[in-house]
Amino acid sequence: MSVLTRNEAQTRAQLLDVHRYTVDLDLTTGEATFDSTTAIRFTARTAGDTFVEIKPETLRSLSLDGQPLDPERLDGNRYPLDRLTAGPHELTVAATMRYSRTGEGMHRFTDPADGETYVYTQLFMEDVQRVFAAFDQPDLKSVFDLTVTTPTGWTVLGNGVSTQAADGRWHIAPTPPISTYLVAVAAGPWHSVTTQHAGLPFGIHCRRSLAPHLDADADEILDITRACYDRYHEKFDEPYPFDSYDQAFVPEFNAGAMENPGLVTFRDEFVYRSAVTDTERQTRAMVVAHEMAHMWFGDLVTLTWWDDIWLNESFAEYMGYQTLTEATRFTDTWTDFGVARKGWGYDADQRPSTHPVAPDPDAVPDTASALLNFDGISYAKGASALRQLVAWLGEKDFLAGINTHFSRHKFANATLADFIDNLATATDRDVHTWADAWLRTTGVDTLTAHVETTGHSWNLTVDRAGDRPHRITVGTYDHSLDTHTGTDQLTLRDRFDIDIPQDGTPVTQPGHRPDLVVLNDHDLTYAKIRLDPGSWDTALTHLSGIPDPLTRALVWNTARDMVRDGELHPTVHLTAARTHLPYETDLALVQGVLGFAATQIADRYLPPQDRPTALATLTSLCRDLLRRTEGLTAKDWEQAPGTTTPGSPDPGLRLIAVRHFIDAATQPDAIQDWLREGTVPGGPELDAELRWRILTRLAVLGATDETAIAHELDKDPSATGQEGAARCRAALPTAEAKAAAWQAMFTDDTLSNYLFTATAQGFWQPGQSELLHPYVARYYPDAIALAARRGPAIAEAAGRHAFPAHAVDPDSIRLGEQALTDPALTPALRRKLTDQLDDLRRALAVRDAH
Ligand SMILES: [Zn+2]
Repeated sequence: MSVLTRNEAQTRAQLLDVHRYTVDLDLTTGEATFDSTTAIRFTARTAGDTFVEIKPETLRSLSLDGQPLDPERLDGNRYPLDRLTAGPHELTVAATMRYSRTGEGMHRFTDPADGETYVYTQLFMEDVQRVFAAFDQPDLKSVFDLTVTTPTGWTVLGNGVSTQAADGRWHIAPTPPISTYLVAVAAGPWHSVTTQHAGLPFGIHCRRSLAPHLDADADEILDITRACYDRYHEKFDEPYPFDSYDQAFVPEFNAGAMENPGLVTFRDEFVYRSAVTDTERQTRAMVVAHEMAHMWFGDLVTLTWWDDIWLNESFAEYMGYQTLTEATRFTDTWTDFGVARKGWGYDADQRPSTHPVAPDPDAVPDTASALLNFDGISYAKGASALRQLVAWLGEKDFLAGINTHFSRHKFANATLADFIDNLATATDRDVHTWADAWLRTTGVDTLTAHVETTGHSWNLTVDRAGDRPHRITVGTYDHSLDTHTGTDQLTLRDRFDIDIPQDGTPVTQPGHRPDLVVLNDHDLTYAKIRLDPGSWDTALTHLSGIPDPLTRALVWNTARDMVRDGELHPTVHLTAARTHLPYETDLALVQGVLGFAATQIADRYLPPQDRPTALATLTSLCRDLLRRTEGLTAKDWEQAPGTTTPGSPDPGLRLIAVRHFIDAATQPDAIQDWLREGTVPGGPELDAELRWRILTRLAVLGATDETAIAHELDKDPSATGQEGAARCRAALPTAEAKAAAWQAMFTDDTLSNYLFTATAQGFWQPGQSELLHPYVARYYPDAIALAARRGPAIAEAAGRHAFPAHAVDPDSIRLGEQALTDPALTPALRRKLTDQLDDLRRALAVRDAH
C-alpha cells in the first residue's frame, strides 16, 4: 500500500476537478464483506496521468467513460488512470470490501448483550479507501450521493437526511462539497431520540442495549447541543452549513469523536451505564461542543494538506472549552483544561518527538507522518496558543478575523498562511510575528518570579527562559484569619496584567510584599511557572485555601512539572495531596491530582520499595474523602446532575474517592466486603463499572479466580462486561494467565481494538514485576510484528497500553533503544515507542535526582 505524499496531492489537485460521487453500498452480503459500487464524475483540466485509490478484498470491475478497464492493474491501493484526456469523465468502480475489527474503515460490531449488529464508518485520513473508490485527499472536495442497502429493521444515518425508499434501501440526501475523509455512514437497529432545532432535524442514536441510558441523559445531551448551536450562530456569520445534525454513539470507537458533517460519531462510553462525576459529564459536553465547532472549522473550511491538522484541532478545542463556559452550566471548564489537557501538551512538548504547533509542510510529506501529529501539541498546546492569541488580540478582533476566514474559504480549503492573513485584516497588531514566535517554534518557556521589598513598595521581575512574548495576569494574595472558623485563608489582594519580556524595569506595586504572588493567574498563557521561594512556601502550606480553582490548578501544575523536572521530591507532592485534597471542592482537580499521584508518583517515580507506603497514603487520603462525603441519601445519588446543594457532600467527590481507594488497595479485605455486600458503606451501591473495578483489583492482588470472573460475566454479559473480564483475566498474577493474555494480544488478529486494549490494561501491573520480567524483552519484536500486520489503530493501542511502562530500569530502556533501529518498525509504533522510552528515562532521572 502506498501512502499519499503532499507532492502527489498537489499534482492531482492541479489536474482534477471532482464533481460528484454516486456510491451504492450493499450491507446484506454476509458477515465478512460488503459490496461497494462508485461512480465518480470529474473533469481533467489538461491531459495527464493520475490514479484513484481503493483497498478492496476483490476489485470486480471498472470502467472509464463506459469503456471497461482491467481490474488486474490495481497496484496496492492505487489504480492508475493513464493518459487521461482533458475534459469531463465518469469512472465507475465495483468492488467487494472487508469489514473492519479495528475501528478503521467500515467497522462491524455484534452486541453480545442482544446479538444485534451495527456497522459504522471512520474514514479519517485515508480510510475511505476501505469503503469505496476515491481521489482521496482533503482538497478534492465533492458532492457525495449515497445509497445503502441493509437488512430489514435497520436505520441508516449519513451526512445528509436519510430516507427509506424501499424496504432496506436507504438514500442519503447529497452533501454540499466536502472532503473524502468526512463522509460517514452508520447503519443498524439504532435506538434514536429525535427533535427539531432552528428548523433542522437533530438526533442522538445508540445501540439498543444502551437505550435506557441514552434516554436518561437525552435532555442533557440535546440541551448542550442546542446551546452550543445557538452560541456558535452568535459568534459566526456563516450559518450551519449542513441539512441536519445527528450524533451517533457507536461501539468500539478509537477516538473520542469524529466531526463528520451532519453525523458526528462518538465513542459509546459517553452513554453512561454507570455512575459518573460531573467532570465526566462536562467532558462529554466539551466533546459535543468541540465536534460542533468543526462543522465550521474543518468541514466548511478544510485544511489543504495535513500539516494544518493543528488548525482544525486547536480551534475546536479552544472553541469547545470557551463555548461551554459561555453557553451552558459548565462555567469552570478552563480548570479542567488546565488539569486534564495542558499537562498533555507540556509533556509532549518536552519530548524529543516534539514539533512546532504548525509544522513546516516539508515535515509532513505524507499521510503516515501526518497521523503522528494527533498529539498534545496539536490539541492542548495549540488551543493554549489560541487562548493566548485571544488574550493578546481581544476576542472581538479574533472573531472578526475568523469570520473573514469562513466567508473567503467556505466549501473550500485553506492553509495557515490564509488563516493568519485573515486574522491580520481584523487588527493592527503584528499577527505574522506572533505566529512565527508561537506556532513555528518548539518547547515550553519557563517564567520565574523574583520578588523584593523596597521600603513601602515591592518589585516583581519575571525571568523568561525561552523566546515567546506572553501577556499574563499576576495575582497577589494575603493571609487572613477567618474570625468565624479561626482558620487561616488566602484572600485576593489584586490582579494586574503584564507583558513579557518586561521592558527592563521591574513592576512596582505599593504596600508590603504579598504572601503569595502567582504568575499566569487565570492560566491565559502556556509556560512553566516558578514562584518565588516565599510564595512557594505559602502555596505548599495553603494550597487548598487559594480562592479560585483555576489558580489552584496552576499551582498544582507547577508542583507536577517540578516533580517531573527533579526539582521537587515526589513524596513532597504526595504530602501536599494528602494535606490539601480532603479540602478541595473542584472535582477536576481532585481527579487530576490523584491520578498523577497514583499512576506517576506511586507507580513510576518512587522506587518499588517505597510504593506500598505511597499506596497507603493514597488509601488514607481516600478514606478522608469518604468521611467528608458521608450522609448522602439514595435521593442524593439519583438527583439531577449539577444540582448538588452547596455545602452538602458531593456524590461525584465520593465516587472519585471510591474509585481511587479500589485502585490503590493493597489488602483485599475492605473491597472484598464491598463486593459481597453490593455497596460501599454509606453508598454508592456498586454498579457494573465499580464491580469490575473491584474484581480487577482483586485479580491484581491474587484474591480472586476464574470462577468469580466467569460468574461476574454471567451477570454482565455486555460488551463492557467482556472487556472487564478480559482485563481481570490478564491481571491475574499467574504464569498461565499472563501467557494466555499475551497469546491473545499478539497472535489473535481477530481480537477487536477494544478487547486488545482491555487485555493490555490488565496485563502490566507495577506490583508483578518478577512475573512480568520475561515479557519486557518479548514486547518489542512482538509489537513490531503486530503493528505491521494490523495497522495504525492497533499499533497505537499496542504502544500505549501494552508497553512495559513500569519497567523503570536501564536494561529495559536499552532494549527499547535497540528496537528503534528495527527497519520493520512502522511510523505509528515508532513514535509511540520513542515517547514511551523518553518517559521511562524521565522516571529514572526523577528517581536518581533524590
Ligand atoms: Zn477535533
